[in-house]
Amino acid sequence: LTAKLKDPTLITDKALVGGDWTSASADGKTFDVTNPSTGEVIATLPDLGKAEVVKAIDAAYKAQKAWAKKTGKERAGVLRKLNDLMVANADDLATILTTEMGKPWPEARGEILYGASYVEWFAEEAKRVYGDVIPGHQQDKRILVIKQPVGVVGAITPWNFPNAMLARKVAPALAAGCAMVSKPAAQTPLSALAMAILAERAGLDPALFSVLTATDAATVGKEFAENDKVRKITFTGSTNVGRILMRQGADQIMKLGLELGGNAPFIVFDDADLDAAVEGAMISKYRNAGQTCVCANRIYVQSGVYDAFAAKLKEKVKGLKVGDGFAEGVTTGPLIDANAVKKVKEHIADALSKGAKVELGGEPAEAGELFFQPTILTEVTTEMKVAREETFGPVAPLFRFETEDEVIEMANNTEFGLASYFYASDMAKVFRVAEALEYGMVGINTGLISTETAPFGGIKQSGLGREGSKYGIDDYTEIKYMCLGGI
Ligand code: ADP
Repeated sequence: LTAKLKDPTLITDKALVGGDWTSASADGKTFDVTNPSTGEVIATLPDLGKAEVVKAIDAAYKAQKAWAKKTGKERAGVLRKLNDLMVANADDLATILTTEMGKPWPEARGEILYGASYVEWFAEEAKRVYGDVIPGHQQDKRILVIKQPVGVVGAITPWNFPNAMLARKVAPALAAGCAMVSKPAAQTPLSALAMAILAERAGLDPALFSVLTATDAATVGKEFAENDKVRKITFTGSTNVGRILMRQGADQIMKLGLELGGNAPFIVFDDADLDAAVEGAMISKYRNAGQTCVCANRIYVQSGVYDAFAAKLKEKVKGLKVGDGFAEGVTTGPLIDANAVKKVKEHIADALSKGAKVELGGEPAEAGELFFQPTILTEVTTEMKVAREETFGPVAPLFRFETEDEVIEMANNTEFGLASYFYASDMAKVFRVAEALEYGMVGINTGLISTETAPFGGIKQSGLGREGSKYGIDDYTEIKYMCLGGI
C-alpha cells in the first residue's frame, strides 16, 4: 500500500491514544486489517483495551478545557487547515480507503471530499455559536443564553464510510470546543488514523482527537458509557448496538447522537419521469455496493409503470462492472465480509422461496469471494425478508403497488425512519406524500440527498440527533441560561 501513496507517512501501524502514538496495547495484542478485494493483510495494529480507553479519555478531559477557551476563530483556523490538507491529500486518502474497504477508487475520492466538506462547514460554523439576550420577566432582570461545549465526546463509527462518518462527528465536536475519543470500525481504521495524522499537521493538540484501534468494541463502548468524564456518545452503526449504548449510558443520563439502520423505501409513481427514477435508483441502490444506511432497500413501483421501470433498470444495471476498486471502470466493489455475502444470499433465497423472480444477477460474482452480482428481483411482496430488514448489498427488490394510500402504508410499516425517496410529478401529490412519509429525510425526484449543508438523521428507531447543517453543531453544545438581577 505504501508504494501507491504520494505521501507514505499517511499510513501508520500505531494508534493515537491521548496524544501519544502507541504501537502496543497493555497486553501486547494486535489485529490485522485486510483488503476485502484480495484478502491481503495491509496493516497490523495494536488491539487496545480498557486501559487505553481510560488514558485517552483522561487526556481528552484535560485538553478540552484549554480548547474550549479558544475563540471560535482560532478553532475554525485549525479545522480549515484540516479541510485543506484532506483536499490536498484526497488521492492518497482515497487509496487508503479503497484498500481497506473495497469501494471503487473514484467513489472513495468522492467520500474524502464529502468528509472534508463537513470539516469546512463546521470550521465556518465554529464562529457562529450564538446565544440570546431575552427580555427579563421582571423589570430589574435580564436573561442571557450562551452555548457551551458538552465536553469529552466518545465516537464509534462504521466501516462503510471510514472517512466521512468520522469527519461528520469530529468536525462539529471540535468546532464547538469539545474533545473527541474515537473508535473506528476494526475493518477500516487506517482512514481514521490518516485523518488524525492530518489533524495533528493542521495544528490540533493530538490529545483532543484520539483514534483507538480495537476489536473489542463492546469494552470501548461500555467505558464511553460509564466513564463520568465522557458527556456524550456519538455513534453510527446498527440499531442493535445503538440500543446497547443507550442502555449502558442510562445510569449517567448519557447524551447520545445515534445514526442507526434504515430500510429506505423508494417509490415510483405512474406520473414519474421514469428515466430520472431509474437514474436515482441506480445511485441510491447500487452506490457502495448497496452498503449505505440510506440505500433504497424497498423499491415500490406503481403497476402502470412497473414493467417499463423494471426493463429500464435492468438495462442500466447490466452496465455496472464488479471488481477490484482500483480497476478501471469498476462501479461495484466487494462486500465487506463473509457475513455480508451470507445475508445477501439469505435475502435472495427467502424472496425466491416466496415467489419472487430474479430479473438480473442473483449470484456471487466471479471477481472474488466477497463480490456479488448487482441483482434485481421482481414480484416481491411484503412477506419477504427484504421488506423488513436492511439487505446492505446490491439487491433491488421491486414491489408492485396500486394506490397512493397503499404505498404510504407499506413504506411506513417499519421500525426504521432514516431516508426515503419518491418520484412523481403532480405537485399536490408531491406535498401529500412528502408529508406522510415517516422519515427524517425525503428525496423527491432525486436519489442523492447527502450534503453537509442539510440535516442528516433519522426518526423512530433510526436514531437521535442530526449531522451537518446549521443544526448539526447544536448536538455538541449545551445551553446555559444566566439570570441577571438588580438592574
Ligand atoms: P455494522 O458492523 O453492521 O456496520 P455495528 O453496529 O456492528 O454495525 O458496527 C458499527 C460500529 O459499532 C463498529 O465500530 C463496531 O466495532 C461497533 N460496535 C459493535 N458492537 C458494539 C458494542 N457492543 N458496543 C459498542 N460498539 C460496538
